[in-house]
Amino acid sequence: MPRISPSDSLVSPAFSAADEAAMQLALQQAQAAWQAGEVPVGAVLTLNGEVVATGFNRPITTHDPTAHAEIVALREGAQRLGNYRLPQCELFVTLEPCAMCAMALMHARVKRVVFAAPDPKTGVAGSVLDLFAQSQLNHHTHVCGGLLADTSAALLRQFFAERRAAAKQRRAADAPSPNPLPPELPTP
Ligand SMILES: [Zn+2]
Repeated sequence: MPRISPSDSLVSPAFSAADEAAMQLALQQAQAAWQAGEVPVGAVLTLNGEVVATGFNRPITTHDPTAHAEIVALREGAQRLGNYRLPQCELFVTLEPCAMCAMALMHARVKRVVFAAPDPKTGVAGSVLDLFAQSQLNHHTHVCGGLLADTSAALLRQFFAERRAAAKQRRAADAPSPNPLPPELPTP
């Protein structure tokens, strides 16, 4: 049997079966975003292991630039619990949070944020920068990433590949035929 070296166990944070179940649910939310024509990102808010709220990315369909999965789940959860602070809650999201969502999660004092895939373009839990590690900004929210990261990343890759293929098809349909008929000669 292969041995797990001590450094491996230090590198990968320990996730529980409940964490994985919550992330699976977040991935289902990401699928729902895709079905709505949105970039597939999903989130689930839990309290003591119970699901309080879910959300998926939907800025385009709702004409709302703030409608990221995390914000949608936070709003629903805060309404349901009747509190703008959610200090006992945990949020599971399929993509590393952006700066807007990171700050919203910190304002809500969410206890723990678990994300799946890193986002090298806008992620602020270590990719572009690490807002959660700024002690001036954050005293409440722990963050860890990498849970079901491959599944989430594959979903995003598939989505963008399909979208590129569809755009290419549209361009091909719009483009003039490669062998256009010669223009008609003017009649004398
Ligand atoms: Zn965001």
